[in-house]
This record gives sequence, structure tokens and C-alpha cells, in this order.
Amino acid sequence: MQWLVVLFSLLICLSVRYCDRFSSGTFRILFFDVGQGDAVLLRFPKGEVWLVDAGGGSENWNWGQQVLYRELARMGILTVDVGVLTHPDRDHGMGFLGLMPQITFRELRWNSVFSPTEHPLLANIFELAHSHQVRPLAVSKPIREVVEGVAVRTVPLPAAGSKNDSPLTLWVDFAGCRVLLAGDAEKLGERRLLQVSDGPVDILKLNHHGSQTSTTPPFFARMNPQVAIASVGAGNPYGHPKSSVLHRIAQSRSKLLRTDVSGFIELTLHSGGFFTCRNADGECGQFQCRNGVNI
Ligand SMILES: [Zn+2]
Repeated sequence: MQWLVVLFSLLICLSVRYCDRFSSGTFRILFFDVGQGDAVLLRFPKGEVWLVDAGGGSENWNWGQQVLYRELARMGILTVDVGVLTHPDRDHGMGFLGLMPQITFRELRWNSVFSPTEHPLLANIFELAHSHQVRPLAVSKPIREVVEGVAVRTVPLPAAGSKNDSPLTLWVDFAGCRVLLAGDAEKLGERRLLQVSDGPVDILKLNHHGSQTSTTPPFFARMNPQVAIASVGAGNPYGHPKSSVLHRIAQSRSKLLRTDVSGFIELTLHSGGFFTCRNADGECGQFQCRNGVNI
């Protein structure tokens, strides 16, 4: 009888998604290689899935349709619980247009300072979301929630002259590790992030792909990440990440990881208060979490 139970469990675990539901105790963050753009998957300890941006696209190529769908399906993910559009720029939002018809999104969040009437890309995403019964959530004030033991703050930055400086930001805390995802925030956005922040982070996605106008010295000094991720395309025409940013990171104790160099980057946060790193080349380190918080 016992072997039957074992066999049954094994069969169940062949479904990756189902296995994940039992693997409580880890929270995973996957930075996809979507060329010059952003797409970050959050896999919560009991199976909830968020996708923060979905990469870009052009008339004949869409990262969401051509790459993310395949990658998500390979992981057994056919439902995204929350999609987050940090700001309505092509390299962050076009992928939603390719991905949304192929998998189920339950909810889509964006910063309420952006209205579909003023931003055609947002209007297209909004229309598609509506036709697929995706719950729309225009975020106008910070949301604090605990998702399967992970504390998540969704914070919209106020309207600014540039879309980049008004991202919908995510501050994520798990097991003493803090993560910040803030889209393409530049100088003004980073000043505002400093007003929201109450200390360093362990994992920082470099804002605006490591542009010269981001990762400003006061911001980077305060964030003081253990790992900094540059989500960039190989040989991109902007020269991202910029040499000044690379120099700043090289002078610090932060470890830099780049999607154009190592492809995908997966960070696994463990309930024991540490996180490990893996990319296409294999293991890329283990780090102790520094930010104990109450959730
Ligand atoms: Zn961007």
C-alpha cells in the first residue's frame, strides 16, 4: 500500500506546477533574457505567480509570444495571478500583447497616473485584458499585502515629466531578504524611491537597464545591494549598462549579473534567511539576507 502512495506522489510531482505547490519555504525570482527590456517572474512559495513586465516587441517579433509563453509553459505555468506593467513603454509592455492571448492572467496592475486614453500601448493592453476577463487594477496608492508568506508593497510613484520616473514599483520581503523592482526610474524617480525606502535592499534590478541617468550615487549607496541585475540586450544601441554605472558597481561590494551575458538569472530565496543564484552557466553564488522585517 505504501508503495502505491509513493508512486502516486511521484506521478503528481511530475507536474512541475503541482510540485511547486508543495515546495513551500522558497520564493523564486526569475529575470528572463528578453533582450533590451524587462520581464521578471515572481514564484511565491505555494505556487502563486506574478509577472512584472513582459518584454518588448516589434511588428514581427514579440518576446511575450515567442519566448515567455514557451518558458512559462515549460515551467508548467499557464496562469499568471498578477501581471504588473511598471510603465507603458514598449520594452516593458509589448510582451503582454503577445502573451495575454496564450495564457490566463487573473489581474493586471499599472500606475493610475497613466491613463489608457493618453497612452496607446496601455489602451491596447487594457482592451486585450478586458476581452480576456482580466481584472484591471489602476494603482493610485500603496498596497501592502502578504502573499504566501511574502510581504509585497506595490507603490506607485507620482506623475512626472517622463514615464520612466513614474513606475509602479515593487518592494518584496521574504525571510530577511529585500528586493526592489522599479522599472526605468531615473534621477527623479530614484529620489522618490529614497523617500519610500527605509534601508538597503539585497537584490536590486538596475533601473532603466543601467542607463547613465539611473543608479545615481546616493541611490546606489543607500540601496547597497548584494546583487545588482542588469536586464539588457546584447549589443544594444544605447550602450546599456553604461560604463559609469559599471564603474560604480565595481567600486562597491555588489555582485553584478547581466542578462546579456548570462541569459536568464534565477534567485531563490530560502526560508532560512539566505538566497542562491543560478544562471545559464550554473550556480552563481549564495548570499545571506540582511533585512529582517515583520510581516
Ligand atoms: Zn526600459
